[in-house]
This record gives sequence, C-alpha cells and structure tokens, in this order.
Amino acid sequence: MQTGRLYIVATPIGNLGDITRRAVEVLKRVDLIAAEDTRHTAGLLSHLGIDTRTLSFHEHNEHQRSLQLVGLLLAGQDIALVSDAGTPLICDPGYRIVCACRERGVDVIPLPGASAVITALSASGLPTDRFLFEGFLPRTQEKRLKRLQQLSDFPSTLVFYESTHRILHCLEDMLSLFGDDRRVVVARELTKQYETMLDQPLGQLLQTMAADTNQQRGEFVVMVAACENPAMEKGAVERVLQALAGEMPPNQAAKIAARISGRPKRELYQLLLKLK
Ligand code: SAM
Repeated sequence: MQTGRLYIVATPIGNLGDITRRAVEVLKRVDLIAAEDTRHTAGLLSHLGIDTRTLSFHEHNEHQRSLQLVGLLLAGQDIALVSDAGTPLICDPGYRIVCACRERGVDVIPLPGASAVITALSASGLPTDRFLFEGFLPRTQEKRLKRLQQLSDFPSTLVFYESTHRILHCLEDMLSLFGDDRRVVVARELTKQYETMLDQPLGQLLQTMAADTNQQRGEFVVMVAACENPAMEKGAVERVLQALAGEMPPNQAAKIAARISGRPKRELYQLLLKLK
C-alpha cells in the first residue's frame, strides 16, 4: 500500500486573505487536519468552507500524537499540519512528527505561506542578507539577560518574537546591553487592522512604546540592527574611559567611550564611577 503524505501548511498570521490557493486545495483534500488548536482552526476552515476532520496536535500531546499520526500516514492517509498562525514548526509544534516521518520514509511536503519573521523582515529596512532568528527570549530576566549578552556583538540582524506581556521588559533588557543608540524595528500586529512598524534608536523606541499603551498590545516581531562596533576587550575599554575622563566630564567621557567601544553608555558611566 502507498503511504500517505504529511503536508506542512502555512496559514495567515492575521489577514485571512493571505491563505494560498494551494493551502485551500490541500486542506480540502486531505483525510485529516492536525491542528494546534482545533477551535481556532475551525474558524479558518468555516471561513474557507472546508469540512475536513480535525484533530488536536499541540505541545502537550505532540509526542503521543506523532506516533498515532505516523501510523495513519503509513496506512495511506494524507494529513495536513497547521498551527494557530503562520508556518508550523516556526515557534510552533510539529518538529517531532516531521522527524518521525523522515525516519519512517513518509513524504513531508511543505506549503509555503505567511510567517511573521519573514513578513516583518521584508519591510523592516534592516539588512536581510543574513539574520539570526532567535524566536522567544527566555521568560526569566536572568536567563534573558544572559542570552542577550551572548548576542550583543552578533554581526547580523537579530529577530525575536515577543508577546504583549513581556514586550517592555524585553526592550528594557535590550537597552541595558545594546545601548540607547542601537537601531531597532518593532513590527506589531502584522497584516491586521492595527499593524504598525516603529523604527527608532532603542532608547527612543522604548520611550515611545512606554508612553502609549496601544503600542504595547498585540503580537510583536522585534528586529535589532547588527552590532557595528564589536565590543572592545574590557581592559582596553577601561583604559580609553580613564584617558577620556582625565580630559572631560564623566558623562561626556562615557558617551565618547561608548561610541569607540560599542558598549552602552550607561554601563560605561557606572564603570567610571567604580574606577574613580
Ligand atoms: N508560526 C508562527 C510564524 O510562522 O510566524 C509563529 C507562532 S509564535 C507561537 C507566535 C509569535 O509570532 C507571536 O508572539 C509574535 O511574536 C509572532 N507573530 C505572529 N503573528 C504576528 C503578527 N501578525 N504580527 C506580529 N508578530 C506576529
């Protein structure tokens, strides 16, 4: 018997008009749709006039469901995998079943469509020839700061996903490590009614967003420009800072040292106070 195929189907990230014709055709034709949230997907399917059977497939049942679905695929059924929005597996469930299919020789067919990372980058005005997609930062501040510290010198555009609850905390932590001047573009509510793109130096951007609660609502892609001046080694930073502080007020010394070293001005100002 011929095995079935697993279709990885991208769905809209807001605007239902962004579903592809091929996605509609496959969702109609398959035997089963494995959906991250069946109730959420029911809305899309009803909008499209599709009545294919759905089955839940989320992070809490992914392991057991993958085994079950691979069984159905091996028995010849065609299955489509969808998530609540965008491309499955991009910060969404699906990794286990794709691996299981590859191991068992089941064809996995990707259907391209919306994904917030690519949608945001394409209009950001930041370099897109190379970028690092980080997905969500850790939830705890300690781990978040540690990860951001590791990324602060990264020489390509950085892309993060963020939710309403943590957007300001995330930007505050970025400010403490990347400095006020790093260019950041925040894409909010892409393809939806309140879509906005803010493109400002980080210090200014944080002020803009903190002052307007509407700007803190919805779903976000945060894109950070590459580090232009990889940070200098600590001893060299201290020497530059002390030399400048001998010639000018601390605030000005920290500002110039920040430009030379690529370190945030605040951090250098604090360092200067300690060195005195
Ligand atoms: N699989 C999805 C994709 O391909 O983009 C991502 C799913 S992930 C669980 C959800 C996150 O994606 C949100 O918290 C947000 O960071 C980002 N996102 C999804 N839709 C978005 C939108 N319309 N505008 C901005 N960001 C969005």
